[in-house]
Amino acid sequence: MARKLAAGNWKMNGLAAALAELDTIAAGTGAEDGPEVALCPPFTLIAAAAERAKGGLAIGGQDCHAAEAGAHTGDVSAAMLADAGARYVILGHSERRQDHGESDADVAAKVSAAWAAGLKAIVCLGESLEQREAGETLEVVQGQLAGSIPEGADAENLVVAYEPIWAIGTGRVAEPPQIAEVHDALRTALSDLCGAQIAEATPLLYGGSVKAANAAEIFATSNVDGALVGGASLKAGDFLPIVEALH
Ligand code: 13P
Repeated sequence: MARKLAAGNWKMNGLAAALAELDTIAAGTGAEDGPEVALCPPFTLIAAAAERAKGGLAIGGQDCHAAEAGAHTGDVSAAMLADAGARYVILGHSERRQDHGESDADVAAKVSAAWAAGLKAIVCLGESLEQREAGETLEVVQGQLAGSIPEGADAENLVVAYEPIWAIGTGRVAEPPQIAEVHDALRTALSDLCGAQIAEATPLLYGGSVKAANAAEIFATSNVDGALVGGASLKAGDFLPIVEALH
């Protein structure tokens, strides 16, 4: 069985004042019998967030560079994230793939860098509406999985998040049978890629318009071990009920 994980992706949201919200989220998580909870604020808040979360709530980045260090103006390395107190990093989010032209190979290189720095990688994949309507969903996500995960996955360093692009920030959540079809296929593909033991232990998250009202139904879906939550992770009052639904 994979461990359960509720992860929040704050995207490009959050000034210092938002740390008070993070405090409330941290205070409401970390129960011994509860799922693991991670929050990925923007780079600027990571060090302060990790300091305030005191290890109960895991903190993560939303991207890192593939190189260890060097002449990459504006970029942040995996070692810098780890040094700031991050334990996770989201890689290959569709907004990075779209806005920054990240390919599967780029994502795989970043995952290797994250692992070298001791971070757990949350690797995101998902189809566009056009690809779904053309019946290409499974082919697309299986290709992204195979291309984005390098050698070296183990039971602890990898999380896979299925985020259909058409469900992100749209309020249009995928139906449980749609989620189950993809998650079942991803578990099998992961087994082919990394072996059955690692595949079984790797959390498979669903992301895309997850909120308190639909979380329980999503978590009851086949091969769903948690969620990657965008908008509803910004407020403790929205996020904590999602964490609760994962218990
Ligand atoms: P929303 O929950 O806002 O749809 O965002 C999902 C997402 O992209 C998380 O990474």
